[in-house]
Formats: sequence, C-alpha cells, structure tokens
Amino acid sequence: MNKSKWFIPLIAVSIIILSGCSSSIPELNYTPAEQYSLDKYLYSVDLTRIKNDKAYVHLHCPGLNQDTVIFHFPKTIPGTYKELDYGEMIDSIEPKDHDGNLLSVEKIGKNIFQITGARDLTMIHYWVDDTWDHPKAMKRIWPMGGTNIEKDENFVINASGWFGFFDGLELVPIQVSLTQSEGMRAFTALPVESKFENTIVFNARDYHQLIDCPIMVSESDTATFMVANTKVYIETYFNGEEYGYADLIKKEIQPSMEAVATFTDSLPVDEYHFIMYIRDGREFMKTLQSKEVGIITKAKTAIKNVTLFGMGALEHGNSSFYALTDFGDSSYTSMIKRVALHEFMHIFTPLNLHSEYIGEFDYVNPKMSKHLWLYEGITEYFAYLIQVQSGLITPLDFFAEQMGGKIRRASRYPETKIPFTEMSERVFEKKYGRHYYQVYQRGALMGLLLDIEIIRLTNGKKTLKDIVLELASKYGPNQSFDEETFFDEFTSLVHPELRQWFADYVEGTIPLDIEGGLSQIGVEYSKKGKHQVPKRILKDYGSKEHRLSFGKYKKVKKVGKKDPIGFKVGDKIDTDKIREKFYDENGFPMQEGTDVKITVKRDDKIIELPYALELKKRKYSHRLRILKDLTDSQQNYYSVWIGNKK
Ligand SMILES: [Zn+2]
Repeated sequence: MNKSKWFIPLIAVSIIILSGCSSSIPELNYTPAEQYSLDKYLYSVDLTRIKNDKAYVHLHCPGLNQDTVIFHFPKTIPGTYKELDYGEMIDSIEPKDHDGNLLSVEKIGKNIFQITGARDLTMIHYWVDDTWDHPKAMKRIWPMGGTNIEKDENFVINASGWFGFFDGLELVPIQVSLTQSEGMRAFTALPVESKFENTIVFNARDYHQLIDCPIMVSESDTATFMVANTKVYIETYFNGEEYGYADLIKKEIQPSMEAVATFTDSLPVDEYHFIMYIRDGREFMKTLQSKEVGIITKAKTAIKNVTLFGMGALEHGNSSFYALTDFGDSSYTSMIKRVALHEFMHIFTPLNLHSEYIGEFDYVNPKMSKHLWLYEGITEYFAYLIQVQSGLITPLDFFAEQMGGKIRRASRYPETKIPFTEMSERVFEKKYGRHYYQVYQRGALMGLLLDIEIIRLTNGKKTLKDIVLELASKYGPNQSFDEETFFDEFTSLVHPELRQWFADYVEGTIPLDIEGGLSQIGVEYSKKGKHQVPKRILKDYGSKEHRLSFGKYKKVKKVGKKDPIGFKVGDKIDTDKIREKFYDENGFPMQEGTDVKITVKRDDKIIELPYALELKKRKYSHRLRILKDLTDSQQNYYSVWIGNKK
C-alpha cells in the first residue's frame, strides 16, 4: 500500500477518532455439520438499478443444509494494516428459503450475520452502501480499499465491501455477474467467464482471489504497453469532462516499468492492471490559491472537499487500484510515477514472498505478520533502487533527497522504544498503528542498510535483490514462509553474522547505524552541524514565496530589498534546477562567486537571470554527500550496490 503525503493529516485524524472502535470478535456458537459445503457462490448485481446510492446484491447459495449459518464480511483485507469493518456498509439483509420465505437473521458482530432455521437457505439479498461518500466509513476506509456507487458513471467494486462469505468457506469458487449500463466496461484482473449484451460474468477461484481483484465499472479510457513478458493495462476514470488520462499516465509510468524489467530477468506476471479513479480538484485548488477569496471561505472549501486529499493506492497480485486527484499541477503525475512503481514492486513481496498470516489470510480475526520491514520497507526501498540503478534519478538525488528525506521523517518515530517487528504485529492497536507510517521511512532505510550489510558480509557476491528474488522463486504466490523462523532462513542465505543485524535493528531497539552503513559504500552521513552553503535565493535576501506552491516550482510572492537577481512577483522558479547549479553531482557546494543562471518562468516564458553565487554559514541536519575519493573497498561495494556486478 502507499498513500501520498496529502493523506497524512487525514489519517492522523481518522486514527484518533476510530481508536475506540476496535471490536472483539463474538464467539460463534454453532457447529457446522459434516456435509457443510457449497459448490459455488453465485453473486449477481444489476448496476443499472441503483436506489438511494445503494446497490442490490443477490446471492444464490443452495445446499448448505445447516440449522445455523454464519455469513461474514471482512474485518480487514491484506495490504491495509487497519481494521475496516466492511460489514457496516451492508443494509437490509434478507436470507430466504427455496420458496422465497424470509429466514431469521441477526447481526452478531460488526461484520457477522447469523442466520437461523437455515436448513433450506437458498438465497441472500441485501443492499450495499458505498464507503466513499459515507460520513463514517470514508474516514475509516481509505478510498483505494473502499467502494463507490455513482449511478451510470462509475462503480468501484472492492469485493470486501460488496460480497460476503460463509464461515470457513473462503475456498469455494465464486461467480460474479454484473449488469451494467450501455457503454460501460468493467476493468479488473479477474478472469471473464462470459459476456452477453450488458451482462458480464467473472469467475474467481475463491474468496481470496475475488478480494485480490478490484473491479472498476465505467466508460473506457485505457492504454496498454508491454514490459518484457508482461502486458500492462492502464484503465482510468476521470470525474471531470476530459478524456485521455490513460495516455497521459502511460507516459509517466512506462519508463519506470521498463526500469523494472532491467531489475530482474523476467516478471512473475503475464498481465498487470493499473486501475485508477481520478477526481477533478482543479477548481478547488484555484479557490485555495485565489487572492480574491478570504481565509474563512478557503478553510470551509478545504473541509468540504477533504476527500480530494485522500489519495493512495493498494497493491494486488495482478493489479493495483488508485484514488487520485488532479489539482491542475504536476503533483498527481509525480505521485503516480512514485507510487505505481511501489505498488508494482509488491509483486515480489508480499505477493510472491509472505508468511502464513498473509498466505492464509483470516478476514474474521486477522493476525498481523511481524515482517512489515519486508513487505513495505523493502518494497519502498526497491522502488527507489530501481530508479537510481536505471538512471531515472541521480545517485545524489537518491541519497540527499530521497533517503535524506526518509531519514528526516523516520527520526520522528520512537525507534529506541518500539521494535519494528512489534509495531508490525500489533499495528491494529492504537499505540502501534499511529507509527505505521515509518514502514515507508525507517522501513526503506532498513532496506538500504540491509542491502549494504549483505554486500559487505558476502564481499560483494550478493545483494538484497539476489536474496529476495531467490526466496520469491522458492515460495511464490501459493506457499508461505514460516513467520517465526524467517530471519534465520534469510540469514542462512547470506552469512551467520546477519542474524545479529536483524536482532539489533529490526527485532530490537538499537538505532540504525546510518553513518557506519553508508560509509561502506562511500556515502557520508552527518546528523547535524554547521557548514558553508549557497544562500537561499528567496529567503536569505528577504524575498517570500507563496505558501501554497505545489510541485517543484516556487512562486515568488514578494521581492526582498536585498534581492540581487531581479525577481518579479509571480515568477516561478524550478527548485530542482537551482540545486543542480548550486551543488556538484556529489552534493558539495560550488565555489563562492561562481556565475550561475537562474531559470525563471515569467508570464509563460522561460528566461535566465545571472547570479554570482554567495555562500553563508548555516546549520544543517541529516546531510548526505557522496565522497569523491573512495577506498578500493568502498569503490567495490558501491559499484555492486549500483548494479555493476563483476
Ligand atoms: Zn505498499
């Protein structure tokens, strides 16, 4: 899973609100008889008949032959690491016998329905409400794991919010039949059984596969391309007027997908679907940035449109689902580039490498694995490693910007108090769940430092990627590794000393040795100090930037009296380009007096303003630089790390 920075304040709020809701599972006081079985769940939904923003679901399920039947909806689903309680979206449930007589039903838990006198249970009917615009559920269930009902426009069918299962019968095949309006199509990785007129029938191997394959029904805006052996589909829906988002997104994603193909010989999937719902946030952003609109109106607009900030993505075996917002700038495309790669990399872990807690996922009483360092941390690290190894980003960008940023954000979490494995296992509890975000920060740093440690311990013969690919090909999607002995197994493929590394940094509370680790590959890390650096071209001369500048551009709000460059109000400055001119490729500042040209976008024209670089002594924290004179061992390890294996 991954969520953009936009989402963080919203999540912080939702976790606080919801912490009291953690519910215990009721005792199920029934004993299924031996012949408890079902050939197939037969689900059908007519999406053309929506009432009060709800859809009517029909389940045909004859032959259970039980006095009491328990019908569940998931408490949570894989990849979300949070209690979601999908059962709360189910309304007016009606179990019926062969003749259509209503059977007695009681809701005995947030997600559990108990049907009694059920010997002749033949069908269940109920209404499904969607989570996206539900006042309670929209705060609890992130949009990428939620459901959407927009009549004649768009349906997001994450099965957890639409379809239930009988106790213990998660492995029974499921057929889902959807009737949709003229011109609508269904986008999913789920195999299609048949199509007749406006009804499409899908077959899922079992409930797990159904959960693993979200379906989006909407008009068609798609693009495809091949990466090595994998056909990639981009399937988008935009709730504004325009079409053509799929092609736009293809341009963003294709280079990183091609980089993945160089990371490994072949990809473990034949096809992969990026399914995306894109909201139109352009008007909203215009209001927020407008000079004519007062602060109170802005605040009200922000609160009313808070869902627009809920961007994120959830990974699945052959697909990933995205909820995004186009604010009319580059922020969502740069997010797609970053997040799509992260979600795609999940095909290695956990999808092809996981413990029994994920392999045999328990939707009723889920147990969390302690190996989030692997599922999320390593995935996040690999998403950046691929970019630097394939030249999509520079080594300096990788270290100083990306990893430097992660070090900074990781420092806010209680590293010396809560072991990472303990946070993982107990992530459903408030005390631990609030620290979940560090999986993308400290987790990714663990990936980097573990990679370096493996290179050191094997003297450059192996990398983290080698070990993960070896394990993923040993286990694959259908076999689980042992939750308890995994650190030992991992260690046995590297060097006995590695076990202590896991014990100290992942199972223990010893702070990561960032300085020592990075120095092995010739990268210098300094936690804090003072140094001579280029002046900040706005702030240090009394100029000001707009607070609501999105993307990489800084917009000049006020020009300071001491400004030596000649800025004008409204100038847009590309901050990435400035960094490239002020520092060399290793991250050391250029000499004072160096002539540089500041590139500025003024009235939609690009102009260049001359500037003689000035330095200033400033405090720093978490500085990373690439050393220029490396020892033989540093040179050797660095070239193995960057992918130039001997
Ligand atoms: Zn993830």
